[in-house]
Amino acid sequence: MKTYLIFLFATILAASAIKQTFEGYKVYKIIPRTQDEVDVVKDLQKNGIGQLWDDQVHINYEARIMVPPNKIDDFKNEMVRTNIGTEELISDMQRVIDDQLQPVKRNSRTGSSFLDMTWDRYHNLDEIYKWLDDVAASYPNIVKTVVMGRSFENREIKGIVINYKPDRKDKVIGMLEGTLHAREWISPATVTWIVKEFLTSSDPAVRSLAEDIEWHVFPVVNPDGYVYTFTHNRMWRKNRGTRNFTSCASSGVADDLSNGVDLNRNFDFVWMSTGASDNPCSTTFAGLAPASEPETVAIVNYVKNINGQGKFIYYYSFHSFTQLIVVPYSNVTGVDILTAENYGDMFEIAARGAAKLRQRFGTVYRYGVAHDTLYVMSGTSFDWVKLETNVPVSYLIELRDLGEYGFLLPAEQIIPNNLEIMDALVEMDRVTRLMGYYSGSVPVICTLSVVALCAVVSLLM
Ligand SMILES: [Zn+2]
Repeated sequence: MKTYLIFLFATILAASAIKQTFEGYKVYKIIPRTQDEVDVVKDLQKNGIGQLWDDQVHINYEARIMVPPNKIDDFKNEMVRTNIGTEELISDMQRVIDDQLQPVKRNSRTGSSFLDMTWDRYHNLDEIYKWLDDVAASYPNIVKTVVMGRSFENREIKGIVINYKPDRKDKVIGMLEGTLHAREWISPATVTWIVKEFLTSSDPAVRSLAEDIEWHVFPVVNPDGYVYTFTHNRMWRKNRGTRNFTSCASSGVADDLSNGVDLNRNFDFVWMSTGASDNPCSTTFAGLAPASEPETVAIVNYVKNINGQGKFIYYYSFHSFTQLIVVPYSNVTGVDILTAENYGDMFEIAARGAAKLRQRFGTVYRYGVAHDTLYVMSGTSFDWVKLETNVPVSYLIELRDLGEYGFLLPAEQIIPNNLEIMDALVEMDRVTRLMGYYSGSVPVICTLSVVALCAVVSLLM
């Protein structure tokens, strides 16, 4: 009995030791106003005082930093010493994390569940994958499951294909990619909602969007990372590749961070040229070569395959947070934003989508290339897809919020987030059709005039 108790105690201790707790961690907002202040913010991470939520920090950028309880005094002292203002956003991260898994108390709201899926809390990988199977079983003539490949830890990267018209000629194809970054839980919660809408909505505009296109839907393309956010570290971003392990002690961060590659820096799109790191301890580590990761390879092969099967029109990559519709390409600025040949149309479609989205709850999404809305990047999936296939509409969508909760978006915001995103997708589809992309005849005058207008607007942003 005694041996059993010791074993039990040891097991409990081991289990609790591996899961990172964020009890007492606080999240602060800092806006550095000078380069010196940017350096101070970066040093906070370098010196182990806090960890930034942002990949990059520059002047006037609203940075978020999480600070463990034993470093809060150091953090405050440093902010007083350097005279940098801060705002406390989250007083106890663990409490907000725990709340994300509690179902929201709400009055019965129509459309908040479909088969075993609900949108009143966040769901783990097993729940999402089981639901995909259930959806396929319930709609055998329309939906089939598909596995695009396997992750580093050999998990399936599972999705579904929704095809209302299997016999159609001149197929129009769209793809939804969710959870390339593990901790962005609103991403799969959005993608699963879109599936529900495609299968159950009676809105004629949603029906057209669902039925005129063959949809390839992958709610979680980084399954290892997503599982890890439930079992070990809620703030995990990368995949779980271990091939590049080196000690991170000198970076002031946990050694575990040297595992994993940032999948949204790993694609063969101007790889490692800007906004990416060659340091395995960085959250934006791009890997040792383009498409070095099995998850990246799976997406690359899948996209190349569907691109040859019909008219590939939409590629949406769902991330969080900051409320953005990001237009390719993410490495360009100034007049080079016109590198993508239909940049003007993509800008216009995004603008219309954002305007429509705002009408429902007043939520503001900005739009434009990464340089103007976020920061420059390379190795991103949506840019690679645009470059490889010239798909007319390829966006990275950063979902709610603006950083009040960031990755820890409360569950009561899932449905409002999803409703407004659905509005945007429907509107963007309406504009895309009007521009002639379904028929393949893009009106040249419209395209050219929009390019001129959009170039000016974008430069003013
Ligand atoms: Zn992301």
